[in-house]
Order: sequence, then C-alpha cells, then structure tokens
Amino acid sequence: MARMEYDQQNVRNFCIIAHIDHGKSTLADRLLEHTRTVEKRKMKEQLLDQMDLERERGITIKLQPVRMEYPYKGEQYTFNLIDTPGHVDFNYEVSRSLAAVEGAILLVDATKGVQAQTLSNLYLAIEQGLEIIPVVNKVDLPNAEVEKAKKEIIHILGCAEEEIILASGKAGIGIEEILAAVAERIPAPRGKTQAPLRALIFDSKYDTYKGVLAFVRIVDGEVRREDLIEMMATGKESGVIEVGYFRPEMRAVEKLTAGDIGYIATGLKSVEHCRVGDTITVENEKHEAERLPGYKEIKPVVYASLYPVEGDDYNAMRDALEKLKLNDAAFAFEPESNPALGKGFRCGFLGLLHLEIIKERLEREFGFSPTITTPSVVYALRLKGNKEEELSRIYSPIDMPDPSVIESIAEPYVKLDVISPATYLGQIMELMGTLRSEYRNTEYIDQERVLLTFEVPLTDIIVNFHDDLKSATSGFASMNYEIIGERESELIKLDILVAGEKVEALSRIVHKTRAFAEGKAAVEKLKDAIPRQNFAIAIQAAVGGKVIARETIKPFRKDVTSKLYGGDFSRKKKLLEKQKKGKKKMKNIGRVAIPSEAFLAVLKR
Ligand code: GDP
Ligand code: MG
Repeated sequence: MARMEYDQQNVRNFCIIAHIDHGKSTLADRLLEHTRTVEKRKMKEQLLDQMDLERERGITIKLQPVRMEYPYKGEQYTFNLIDTPGHVDFNYEVSRSLAAVEGAILLVDATKGVQAQTLSNLYLAIEQGLEIIPVVNKVDLPNAEVEKAKKEIIHILGCAEEEIILASGKAGIGIEEILAAVAERIPAPRGKTQAPLRALIFDSKYDTYKGVLAFVRIVDGEVRREDLIEMMATGKESGVIEVGYFRPEMRAVEKLTAGDIGYIATGLKSVEHCRVGDTITVENEKHEAERLPGYKEIKPVVYASLYPVEGDDYNAMRDALEKLKLNDAAFAFEPESNPALGKGFRCGFLGLLHLEIIKERLEREFGFSPTITTPSVVYALRLKGNKEEELSRIYSPIDMPDPSVIESIAEPYVKLDVISPATYLGQIMELMGTLRSEYRNTEYIDQERVLLTFEVPLTDIIVNFHDDLKSATSGFASMNYEIIGERESELIKLDILVAGEKVEALSRIVHKTRAFAEGKAAVEKLKDAIPRQNFAIAIQAAVGGKVIARETIKPFRKDVTSKLYGGDFSRKKKLLEKQKKGKKKMKNIGRVAIPSEAFLAVLKR
C-alpha cells in the first residue's frame, strides 16, 4: 500500500492533555479536519471517542492514536496524535500515552482556569520530559477569562506569556498556530533506524481477523509484515501479520520505522502475551536489544463482586468479562463463590467511574445486569497472634473475619488535591470536616485560586465525594488524588438485613464513628429501591448482630393483569412476559426480590 515517504526529522508525536471537558477531543477534531485527515462528510463531533458509551457520556475512556500529514513551510510533516482521557480513573491511560510521545498540548479552558487534573496531567508530562505547548482554549465563549487563565498557566508552568496560544476548538480559532507550534517546538523523535527493533507497547486490542493488535511506538529500528517478533517480557514469539497506522481506522503499510506510532498485528490469540509496557523486538536482533523501562504495574484500588442473577449465566458472563478485559488492561477479575450469592467474580477497578463503565458495557454489549456488591477498598488485616508483617488482604466486606480474631485493620490513604476559587474555602473545609480528613497545605495559584492538600482514607472519597465537592463549590472545585500508603483505623463491618436475612452483597466496612449514620442512610435508600411486596418488609442495619437502624416497606398488592379483563389474551401474555423479564434482573433474598440497581444505588446520594 502506498505511503508518503518522509524523513524522520519531520515526524512529531504528541498528546493533548487537560482537565476533563476542557476540549481535548473537540480540538482533536479540528486538527483532523485542518490536516484533511478525515473527509468533511465523515466528520462528526469528538470523532476519536469511538465507543458508544464515550459518545453518549461525552467523555474519553480509551486513548486513541491518529496520524496526520501536514505541509508546513514547504516541508511535509507527519503528526501522530494520541487523544487521552481526563478523568482520574483513567490516569493510567494518560501516562502510557505520554511515554510514547515527545510533546504535549496543555489545554486550559478559559472559563474554568487550571483545574486539579490539569496539574496532575501536566506533572506526568513533565516527568516524561515532554515539550509542553500551553493553550488557552474556548476563547470564543463570552465568559472566557483569558488573562486570568494565562496567569495561572505561567504560574504552574513557568513559561513566557508569548508561548501561550489562544484557541477555540469549537470555533476553529488558533488551529493553524497550534499546528505550527507542533512542527516548530516539539522535537523530532530521536530513535535510530539502523538499531535493533525496540517497540514500546502502549495499548493493545483484540481483532477477530488479525489477532492481538499491539499499539506501538517504534523507539528504534524497523518492523515489517512477516517479521518474526518477540515480546521481551513474556518471551512469546509470533509472525507479524500486518503493520500500519491509524487514520483513525487502520491503514496497513510496508513497515514502521523508528519514531513512528502505529500498530503491529501480532496474530496472537491472547492479550496476556502482549502486555502493555512490554518491548517488542525482532527475533534475530533480540540479543542486542535492551528492554525499554515500560510502565509501573497498575493495581486496581476499588474491588466489587459481580454475581450473575441467574446461576446459568456464569460461564457466559465469564466470557463477557474476558472480552472486556481484552481492551482494558486496568480491569481485573477472578472467580469467587459465596454461600448467599452463588458463583461470581471479584473485580478490581481504578475507581467508581471505571466500575460504572464496566457495568454499563456488560449490560449493553452482553445483556448482563449482575448483582454488584458494595465496592470496597483493599484492607490489610493483622490477625491475633500474627507478626506485624503477616498481613492478610481483604477485598470484600464478605471476607471480613469475626472481630474477635482481628488484631488490627489498616486501610489505604490518599493525598487529595483540591483546586478551587478561594471564596469557597469555607465550604470546602466544612465538607472535609465531614470526612476523616487531615488538612496539610494551602498554595495560592493566583490571587483568587487555591490548591488545598489533604490526607484522607480512600474509602471516604471513592463514592460521593466528587459530587459533594462540586455542589459545595457550585461546580468550581476540581480534585485529584494519589495513594500514599496504608494506615491503621478502627473499622467494623456493617450488615444489612432484608426481611430478617443478611444480604451479604450489601455489607460494608465502615469507621466505628460512622456506623450509625451509614446504617441509617443505607436502610432509607433501600426503602426506596426495593419494590413493595404483598407483605411488610423490614430493612435493618446491624453491627455484630445488634440492630442500629430500621425501616419498613409497607405491603402493596400489584396485579398487572387486572386491567385486562376479557379476551385480549395475547396482550395479557405479553404483559406477563414483560413482568417476568423485569423480574429476571432481581436478586431473590428469601421472599424478597432486590433489583440489581439497588445494590449500587444504596451507595449514592
Ligand atoms: P474533553 O473531555 O477534554 O475531550 O472535552 P470535549 O472535547 O469532549 O469537550 C467538552 C465540551 O466542551 C463539549 O461540550 C464541547 O462541545 C465543548 N467545547 C470544546 N471546545 C470548545 C470551545 O473551544 N469552545 C466552546 N464554546 N465549547 C467547547
Ligand atoms: Mg475527550
């Protein structure tokens, strides 16, 4: 297949980094349009967000590479852009993309200014030694505060004012200038074409026809179709089926050369052998090639168990999870069984948004609505009689042993950064006072905006905190966190009983001082989430067998067919079938059916 030949000196690899919603995907659209990478008639908004879920929610979940050709000052340039997600749960995707490029466009929304993930993503980029092109975006908006955004960028980046480009992805302002800056300021890749092949795998995906596709940055050397390659960490060998780049759909080429970003179709049947962060080399050069540093392994921070509502669905659901894992390196799961819930899967996530996305994909792409147990962080338990370093890890409240055998429990803590206009300081401090937080530091980014630092148990911020912070600050504050270690806490297990039966999936581990408030909130939530039955249902919260809160769902008789007197049998049947289907998504606990939605709903306010 024909491809424009180019000199390595004219290759530029870059990412767009920003806080969520500051306009990365929209700017990427303009860049694609301007470089005529995508025909106008095929253009749609946020083109690089290819998953349905991404398009509906307006967020980017997966990183997505794309190659563009751009003539500039009489030369032909090749630009490789990787669009990345902004949400904290997906920071891992961001850091992987950053390792594959030489530069980053840092977008700051002129109406929002620098926000928490602007900072965290910028720090990741600086760590990688990337050239940063600062851009104030959305300057078309009437409430844009360009000068203020500029000052904040200068404060965090220490750049000169002239380096900052004013742009609007939506209105198409500043696009030429950004493309010129990419050509002028971002260094060309420095790899050696003559050296042994070293390709960094920054993502992978399964393709039914071509096997595992490794998304790669060629650091050194060249790779062609039919080359015999080796994955250096796993030692797995394979013959290359195809190499190519993204436009953003796949385009096959003769070869990929040092400096290129593209894909290698490995023909492998399992992504396990083609790990993100690994180095691909060619079989006959493997003794000379040195493995690239790769990435630090990602560990899920939130665990929840997924149980199929129908026991028969177990195998099919395992296949579905297997498939989801194929293009989500951060998602982890293993089989688990539980006397009350049957056979299911313990799953690890990067955060609650990640959990919700997996849940939604299971539902849309595979038709499963499993029961989801209360998401839990990982606890480190020391049992009585055990030495200090002999810890057992608990991934689910269900596995919590009897308190009488526990010496101590430690939980993960995070360093939490909050950026907000200083006028909301009081509200933020008040909100933080409701958590088990410790205040650490205040830094002024400019006269009006502050960066506050706290140390908080992870469990206190994974579910509702982001929404609470937004409402306490009229949406102005933003947050980011990183795990800093484990600390001992006085934690106990809170149980929920429905009609006298303990619902294991609803158990959770809480701080001693929180048991009452959490128990009360949970039974109130459940009262609304569980449909009435023709008998009264008691909902109780209990600690160590002692009931601390209670609600009752009043009885109610529901006869769906009573309206359909007489002969319309087919309608009647349809209605009954519909009701049966509705019931399918329920988990029966004793005589009571709990909708699978209720399990997650209980957690949210
Ligand atoms: P991302 O999360 O950084 O990828 O942001 P998106 O590109 O998805 O944009 C978030 C929202 O901001 C969308 O509703 C866009 O239409 C809007 N948006 C993006 N760029 C601009 C811009 O330059 N001007 C205006 N007015 N709106 C923009
Ligand atoms: Mg996006």
